Amino acid sequence: MSARRRFRNLIRIGPVQVGTAYDQRGREKHTAACTAPRCGFSSEYDSRSAAELAARTHRCPAR
Ligand SMILES: [Zn+2]
Repeated sequence: MSARRRFRNLIRIGPVQVGTAYDQRGREKHTAACTAPRCGFSSEYDSRSAAELAARTHRCPAR
């Protein structure tokens, strides 16, 4: 696991987890991160819906 941040509202869509956390500046960030070992997909979004959409449409190359 990389960044040790406190995620709220953590959900799982397929292999991708979506969570909300605050960045260093105290702003809300929405992260979508794939849990597949060889994938490494991880991205941050300004809105929760964008993060969830990315999770839903993520095509895992590790499969
Ligand atoms: Zn993936």
